[in-house]
Amino acid sequence: MRDIVLYGHDVLRERCRPLEPGRDDDFLEILLTDMRAVLREYNGLGLAAPQVGEPVRAFIAGDDTGLPLAGHTVFLNPELEPFGPRVRAEEGCLSFPGVWADVERSHGVVIRALDRRWEPVTLELTGMAARLAQHEFDHLEGVLLVDRMGMVKRRLLRSRLKRIQEGGC
Ligand SMILES: [Zn+2]
Repeated sequence: MRDIVLYGHDVLRERCRPLEPGRDDDFLEILLTDMRAVLREYNGLGLAAPQVGEPVRAFIAGDDTGLPLAGHTVFLNPELEPFGPRVRAEEGCLSFPGVWADVERSHGVVIRALDRRWEPVTLELTGMAARLAQHEFDHLEGVLLVDRMGMVKRRLLRSRLKRIQEGGC
């Protein structure tokens, strides 16, 4: 079973590769099963594939987040089109245990992705759902919570971040 990958691991900095229908079917089925188990175990809202050590363009949302995702929980090869004002709100990340920081995101996004049966999905998301999509999309580009927080916050969290990086959190 795959487990959560913490800040400091190189895979979190990779630009993830697109998934290919057919070629990736079996790999994806096992990957999604593992991702669901990890998300449930750590009680997260969302999880991106590199967070379990696989640099591929996939993220999931929990089944019971209450977010308006129209029943979709699997997003493959997503593309985002942001809209609306920039909004600051607190975010956490399973790869940064115990870290919370204000992050500025677009209020809304149109997300185009494939679902787990490779069917195209287009959703217009706002609020927390849009924030989740932007956070998880960042992971697929190798961009992390630490890159999105302000300088002051990063400095305040320096020793905590160092502990996570060194595996001693
Ligand atoms: Zn994250």
